[in-house]
Amino acid sequence: MKKIIVANLKMNFGLDEAINYKNSINEKFDNLIVCPPYIYLRDMISDNYIIGSQDGYYIDKGAYTGEISFNQLNSIGVKYSIIGHSERRHKLFEDNKIVKDKYVACLNNNITPILCVGETLEERQNNKTLEIIRFQLESIFKDYKIENVIIAYEPVWAIGTNVTPTLIEIEEVHQNIKNIMNELNIETKILYGGSVNINNIETFSKSNYIDGFLIGSASLDPNNLMKMIKITM
Ligand code: PEP
Repeated sequence: MKKIIVANLKMNFGLDEAINYKNSINEKFDNLIVCPPYIYLRDMISDNYIIGSQDGYYIDKGAYTGEISFNQLNSIGVKYSIIGHSERRHKLFEDNKIVKDKYVACLNNNITPILCVGETLEERQNNKTLEIIRFQLESIFKDYKIENVIIAYEPVWAIGTNVTPTLIEIEEVHQNIKNIMNELNIETKILYGGSVNINNIETFSKSNYIDGFLIGSASLDPNNLMKMIKITM
C-alpha cells in the first residue's frame, strides 16, 4: 500500500511562489494531498496531486466574516481537509467541540477530514499521552458512527521543532489509536506528523503501523517533497 502524504503549506508563499510550487510538482502522485493557504487553492489545483484545505468553517453560509465554509471549499473541488491541527487547537483556541463540529460539517460537504490528535510536551512528561488521545478521539467518535477515517498523530512538541518521538514511541501511540478505533468499530488509517524530513522518512515508512505522513516544513520545497514521496514507495 502506498503511504498517504499530506503537505501542509501553512501560511506560506506569495502568489508567484504558490504557482511555482504547483508547476514544480510535474509528476503525478495519486497519494499526495497538497493543502495550500485558502487564497491559493484554486490557483494550485493540479492533475498531479489532490487538493486539500488546512481548515474550514462548520456553518455552510451566512454572516461569519472572514470564514470559509466546507460547503464553499467543496464547490471549488477540495477533497480533503485537515481538522483540529494543533496550531488551531493551541494558537487559535479550538476546543474538541469545535473540532467535532468541523469534522461533521466536513463530511456533510463530501470532504474527507484528516483529524489531527496529539499531546503537548507537558502531557507526555506526565504520562498523559494515551489518555489525551483517547479523549480527543472519543469526543468525536463515541456517538458519531462512520466507516473509514484518517487520523494524523501529531505530538505537539514534535511539530516544527526537528525533534521526533522514536519509532517505538510512535508505534505505541498508533497501536493505541487502532485499539480505540477498533473498540468503536471504525476502520482507520493513521498518519504520523511532526518534523518528518528527508532523513527520517525512510525509517518511519518501513513501519506497518504508519499509513502515511503529514508534513509541514519539509513539504515547502516541492523537489524535496517529491524525493520524500519516492522514498516511501
Ligand atoms: C504539521 O504542520 O502538521 C507538521 C507536522 O509540521 P512539521 O512537519 O514542520 O513538523
